Parts: sequence; structure tokens; C-alpha cells
Amino acid sequence: AKEAGRNTFQFYAAEMNQRLLARLNLERDLRQAVERNEFLLHYQPQINLTNGAIIGVEALVRWRQPEQGIIPPDEFIPLAEETGLIVQLGKWVLREACRQARAWHDAGLPKIGISVNLSARQFREPGLKQTILDMLAETGLEARFLEMEITESMVMFDPEGAIAVLDELQQQGITFAMDDFGTGYSSLNYLKRFPIHKLKIDQSFVRNITTDSNDAAITNAVIELAHGLKLKVIAEGVETEEQRSFLRAHQCDEMQGYLFSRPVPAEDIVNLLIANNQL
Ligand code: C2E
Ligand code: CA
Ligand code: CA
Ligand code: CA
Repeated sequence: AKEAGRNTFQFYAAEMNQRLLARLNLERDLRQAVERNEFLLHYQPQINLTNGAIIGVEALVRWRQPEQGIIPPDEFIPLAEETGLIVQLGKWVLREACRQARAWHDAGLPKIGISVNLSARQFREPGLKQTILDMLAETGLEARFLEMEITESMVMFDPEGAIAVLDELQQQGITFAMDDFGTGYSSLNYLKRFPIHKLKIDQSFVRNITTDSNDAAITNAVIELAHGLKLKVIAEGVETEEQRSFLRAHQCDEMQGYLFSRPVPAEDIVNLLIANNQL
């Protein structure tokens, strides 16, 4: 029995070493990737549900790993957060997204907004406001076209501090959307005090709106809550025509999801904008 116990221990130890090693390797690669700028952005259109117009795009980062190819954000953003690398990566994302939006505007395409995800770590950085203002100045993008996506947990950690930061940026013309709404902990009392413009209904609710009455009820409640607070509401993860008509029938303002388009490279957005405008 003693022998078996030792074997089990050695087995776990080996497995733990494996995992630790994998993590250390990933951290080393990620650090290098930030230095070598191995990242790229894909963009996913956001659609006005009433008239079908593309009103904006969400910038979503990808890592072009030399050996493994494209790595999705879920596989490196958490580690980038933990290690603080997200601060540098986040600046790059912000600059690249603003630059791209400005380039589309300059090309004479319909002036669409750009939504950029903000991480908790970035939000806590004292220089955030200046970073955002610098990127806008550098790229020449008008502030009103920049929307930052924040989450409930990010702001509920220190609601008063968050309100102060959001207020300052909002006064500069930047808008805020509450991402993954309904999945985190948020206080309705604070929700009315956050200077946000939009709620994003999480895709976990949208997925089953046409088959699960609870998800349908939650989605309707969020739409009504948003409108009651004079906020816009966008549904994410819209994949089917049935989901789209449900959302439209229940006065949801906007949608985003594979039904219209997956996140795509910048060049594809140009074609989508041209096609969308000719409708
Ligand atoms: P998110 O902000 O909730 O982004 C939406 C995710 O849902 C994206 O995954 C998008 O590709 C996916 N999606 C969009 N439409 C559909 C649909 O119809 N069906 C399904 N099943 N999925 C859909 P992605 O690009 O893999 O990003 C995952 C997460 O990584 C994001 O979730 C966000 O939390 C994070 N992320 C991505 N880019 C950045 C970034 O630049 N900075 C930070 N801090 N986080 C980022
Ligand atoms: Ca988002
Ligand atoms: Ca989301
Ligand atoms: Ca999400």
C-alpha cells in the first residue's frame, strides 16, 4: 500500500511538472510574442436589428504562433492577465483597432464604431485614461467612434473608483458597453450609476432563447432593463434566423454573431461594408 501511494504521488508530481512546464513555456512564448508583435485583430460586425445596417465591429485579438498557427484568445488572455503582459498587448490592440477604424473612415466607407475589450488588469492601470487619449490622438480617430467593453466583475471590485474612471473617459466622448451581461455579479443600484451606453446580452442566454423559456425570460428582462435605464442593448452569439426574429420582436437594438458574420480580417470588413451599403 505504501508503495502504491508513492507511485500515485510520483504520478501526480510528474503530471504537475508537465503542466507547470507547459505553462512556463507558454509564458515564455507569450512574452516573446509581445516583443515580436505576433498578434493580429479580427473584426466582427454589429448589426442594427431594425434596418440591418452594420453599425460597428468588435476587435478580437488572435496570436499568430509561428509553429502552431492561429491561437484563440481564450488560450492566452488569462495568462497575459496574470503575468501583466496584457497591459502591453492591450495597448497594441487599442492602437491597431483605432488605426484600422480611422483607415476605414478615411477610405470613405460608412463611419462605423469600433469596440475594444478591456481587461481587468488594464482597467486598474493608473495610466489608462492617458493611454486611450494618446491612441486617439495618434490615430486621429474621433473619440465617439471608440467603445470600450468592460465586465461586471471589473467594475464591481471598486464601483466608486470605476465610476470615476468611466466618467472621465466618457466626458472625452468614449462610450462603454457592459460585456457578458448577466453572467457576473452586478448591483442594479450601481448599474444606474455607471456611465455606460450599452448592455451586451451574453451568448449563454441567447443560445437557447427559442427553446428555453427561462433564457427567453432573462433575455426579455435584460432588454427591458436596458431600455428602462435608457441604454442600448446588443445580443451576442446570434447564430440562427429564429434567434434574430425573436430578438427583433422583443425590441433588442443590435445583434452580433455567426448568423451575420464570424470575426474576419480587416479586408473582409471592407467588402461587408460595401455590400451592406448597397442593400
Ligand atoms: P467576448 O468579448 O465575449 O467575445 C465574443 C466571443 O464570442 C468571440 O470569441 C467571438 O468570436 C465569439 N462569437 C461571436 N459570435 C459568435 C456566435 O455566433 N457563436 C459563438 N459560439 N461564438 C461567437 P473569441 O474571439 O475567441 O474571444 C474570446 C474572448 O477573448 C472574448 O470574449 C474576450 O473576453 C477575450 N478577448 C478577445 N480579444 C481580446 C482583447 O483584445 N483584449 C482582451 N482583454 N480580451 C480579448
Ligand atoms: Ca467583448
Ligand atoms: Ca461577450
Ligand atoms: Ca465571453
